[in-house]
Amino acid sequence: MAMVYCRGCGKEIHESAPTCPSCGAVQAGTYPGKNKVVAGVLALLLGGLGIHRFYLGQWWGIFYLLFCWTFIPSFVAFIEGIVFLVSDDATWNAKYGRR
Ligand SMILES: [Zn+2]
Repeated sequence: MAMVYCRGCGKEIHESAPTCPSCGAVQAGTYPGKNKVVAGVLALLLGGLGIHRFYLGQWWGIFYLLFCWTFIPSFVAFIEGIVFLVSDDATWNAKYGRR
């Protein structure tokens, strides 16, 4: 059960709440997060270069780039791409979505 902060009043509410029970502010879609499918496809196609990590705003994607010659990042990114694509929206949003 992940909690997020209301955009309107700052009160802690459940991440799946479409509106804030306290002030009524609409939550869903108000924080455009990173797109799960885009990140997943980037990981599958360009993951060996850490492109999906850069897309997610994670600077340490640079390590994928540094070690891309070992093909380990490609392998790791492939797994990550699958995980991204199969993760449900609530999980995704809690990690990379609206904040
Ligand atoms: Zn509120």
